[in-house]
Amino acid sequence: MTLDGILGQDRAVDLLRRSLSAGRLAHAYVFTGPPGVGKRATALALASACLCTTRPGEGCDSCPECRLVGALTHPDLFLEDLARAQAERATASQVSIEQVRRVRGHLALRAVRGPRKLAVIDDAERMTGDAQNALLKTLEEPPGRTTLVLVATNAAVLLPTIRSRCQQVRFAPLEDAVIERLLVDGGVEPADAATAAPLAEGSLVRGRELASGDLAERCRELRDRLDRIHVAPVTDVLDLAAEMTASRGARAEQSALVSTVLDWCRRRVRTAVEGAGAAGPGGLDAVRRAVRQLERTYATSRDLDRHANAHLSWDVLLLELRRAGPIA
Ligand SMILES: [Zn+2]
Repeated sequence: MTLDGILGQDRAVDLLRRSLSAGRLAHAYVFTGPPGVGKRATALALASACLCTTRPGEGCDSCPECRLVGALTHPDLFLEDLARAQAERATASQVSIEQVRRVRGHLALRAVRGPRKLAVIDDAERMTGDAQNALLKTLEEPPGRTTLVLVATNAAVLLPTIRSRCQQVRFAPLEDAVIERLLVDGGVEPADAATAAPLAEGSLVRGRELASGDLAERCRELRDRLDRIHVAPVTDVLDLAAEMTASRGARAEQSALVSTVLDWCRRRVRTAVEGAGAAGPGGLDAVRRAVRQLERTYATSRDLDRHANAHLSWDVLLLELRRAGPIA
């Protein structure tokens, strides 16, 4: 992974590039942002950029150093994945302090091949207070020519003393077009990528989940049924509500279906707004109706999050969408 291969995180990548080219890489960074937006990939790309001999400051993916980074076997790079480490062991609290000691040990040693030693702690918010305190010593007196990257979804759970000693780099949710492209690059069928991307809420990981299996197909089918909902018999609409309720067991599935309805409503608002000028006073009415449907759907999705009666919520919402009639 090279820095220019990181898509959709221009601000974060530019900041790191500037530090690299000025020779002022920080001793410690916290990469924060939602899950599945490229924080860990960027940390590894930063390692390539530091250690690459062909394109220093950028990474090339093909020189021996970059290949070792890609395989996570470069002796000057240490990746500690706390989620994995804790999943493998029973006592999570002990694991994290043990892992931090390993990171400290790695950074304390002299670089073997390259000009710098790097360590990445993924899921850093899983560090216990003791583990964070153990890390603090390294942050207070960083060994020369070392860089530590903490990757965290929520930096707020890190001790203020840790955060204040790290440079924060914020990662944004990915744009739909970026997710779509990355999914297609990863071998997902273009039609499935196009369905999954708008529902992924900015996360490539979530996009992959949605695009895999038959969930993308179900979302597409739901959208088709919504397009015809205003002419569908009431019994069909109630059947659809029952199907939506039946999916409630699987959280990812349920939230993908809700996102599909929200996305459908947003498109209707856009269609209504675009047609409003030409349609005269009736056009404005269509916009109001579309906005009201979107609000109702938001309210339903909140109700479902609060474990309201799912079947009833879906009945009411879908019947209301049916009654609202066509927008254009
Ligand atoms: Zn290279």
